Amino acid sequence: MDFLGTLTRTHTCGELRASDAGKSVVLLGWVNRRRDHGSLIFLDLRDRYGITQVVMDNELSPVAHAKAEHARPEYVVAAIGKVRLRGKDVINPKMATGEIEVVANELRILNDAKVPPFSPAEEAIANEEVRLKYRYLDLRRPEMQRNLEIRHKVALAVREYLSAQGFFEIETPFMTRSTPEGARDYLVPSRVHPGEFYALPQSPQIFKQILMISGMDRYFQIARCFRDEDLRADRQPEFTQIDLEMTFPQQETVFAVVEGFLKAAFEVTGEQIRAPFPRMTYDEAIRRYGIDKPDLRLPAMVDLTSDFTPELRTALKIEQELPVLGFTVPRVGELSGTARKALTSDIRASLGDSALDVLDIARLRTNDTFAGLADKISEKLSDELKVFDERGLASRDLNVVITPKPGVAAQAKDRLWIYKKVGQLRLDLAKRFQDKHSAFEKKGNADDYKFLWVTDFPFFEWDGQTHTWTFAHHPFTSPHEDDLIAGRMESDPEAVRALAYDIVLNGMELGSGSIRIHRQDVQGQIFRALGMSDEEARLRFGFFLDALQYGTPPHGGIALGLDRIIMILTGATSLREVIAFPKTAKAIDLMADAPSQVSEQQLRELHIRPTKA
Ligand code: ASP
Repeated sequence: MDFLGTLTRTHTCGELRASDAGKSVVLLGWVNRRRDHGSLIFLDLRDRYGITQVVMDNELSPVAHAKAEHARPEYVVAAIGKVRLRGKDVINPKMATGEIEVVANELRILNDAKVPPFSPAEEAIANEEVRLKYRYLDLRRPEMQRNLEIRHKVALAVREYLSAQGFFEIETPFMTRSTPEGARDYLVPSRVHPGEFYALPQSPQIFKQILMISGMDRYFQIARCFRDEDLRADRQPEFTQIDLEMTFPQQETVFAVVEGFLKAAFEVTGEQIRAPFPRMTYDEAIRRYGIDKPDLRLPAMVDLTSDFTPELRTALKIEQELPVLGFTVPRVGELSGTARKALTSDIRASLGDSALDVLDIARLRTNDTFAGLADKISEKLSDELKVFDERGLASRDLNVVITPKPGVAAQAKDRLWIYKKVGQLRLDLAKRFQDKHSAFEKKGNADDYKFLWVTDFPFFEWDGQTHTWTFAHHPFTSPHEDDLIAGRMESDPEAVRALAYDIVLNGMELGSGSIRIHRQDVQGQIFRALGMSDEEARLRFGFFLDALQYGTPPHGGIALGLDRIIMILTGATSLREVIAFPKTAKAIDLMADAPSQVSEQQLRELHIRPTKA
């Protein structure tokens, strides 16, 4: 093995071009590939910036050539030599440095490497567990380096934008008390206070609100959050949010700031987005899309309730009171009779015993009594399609109408489940035919990104497990002032709207936030409505309730998942592709082998005695 000595790199492995021909250079990097052609040995040197071909010619420099015989993939080497233009027939247009090569007169082997379990030079991805265990090798892959580069640049663009808007980046503690997001805390035992624990923050929520009480006016943080949840498909126990809070905002003030930094973030990869984003209330989202995070790349559902008169409902065996909903999946193409039949029975199966049924519009049309209705339905669905997409193309679209079967409970508050069920079906069918309708395909323009603000969420959510009302966002979210003034908190909690909002992109929730409660009396009222006694509230959030008493300004904010934004911008298929050291779905760090057992001594110091399960 050789020493680096006083060698310094003159160029990176991605830098040299035809115009550098003739220059003496020093390149340092990893051996990406080695090709032995007898008297010529080629080493492709790799670093973060790219790959450069280095040639060792036995005739020109036999010592360097002899060294290269020992070099193997992932060895770290220094190549000292001259840049030479490649012959016309060996120019590699796929490589940025493909017009040149470096003819080495000296090669130093700075370090060797074991045969790696997979080659960072290969595009084919090895088993993900192996990649995570040997993350340092995985991160050598150009794709991962690019993902982390984009991540860095996006974070920087967000910082610059927010800083220019007067936001201060302020760090909040990792070791603190339980925060109010409603997930399970990660706990850290205290050595100096036996039996006491810190909690890792599920978000900086309380601290950012306290910063507003402190007069900091505008705060942000690219903040790590910790939530000990059973991990669903694409979640991480520690994740990063772009978290911000501001004093005296209207909702629109928050929206404008977010639209601004998202524009800056998307520009990092050259993506254009259209702002301001549309706004939609929760109620409208459910009624038109059946979901609180509508995917606007597909046409909305159409309410056909009024087209079904009592007589028609009786004749068609449809529940009298409940809504009838239709939707279109565009450009599915002509379906054969058999395919149509199979599809109908699949839809029926997916509706299960929900007391909903699919109406066969083609069949209606063949019947004199219902032909007019069939036309009306088709017209309404194609109107919606035209609003969505000028091209229309009604004849090749798939129209689906879902009706409630008779005897289904018709109470007003139960109706939303129908919208939700049909909304889900709309998404499932769009997915099923996605190769045909191209709604999810990237078009290379601002239409690829359908952003949306969803506002006016219900304040309370019914918790089916505990049979109590719980908060839909978090307990510091302000209810609508109108609902407070009208006394709905007591008289009709279900109707109370929150000043809470979500930002949605292509059917994905990117973040949520709210205008907060700034009055102590209102906060008390909310805790009581949530069934939290004064003592319990004091125990959990006492310090915050104290702070609220000392001149708290109206304030509000939001947090957006940075990891997810990076995933969209890189086109990655999983959060693990955009986090340097992620955990598995079982919350394990396979490289560091964490969590792990600790010594008896450590446990003793922490006053912990494990119980065997
Ligand atoms: N703390 C909230 C969350 O993490 C966001 C907010 O209300 O600002 O979802």
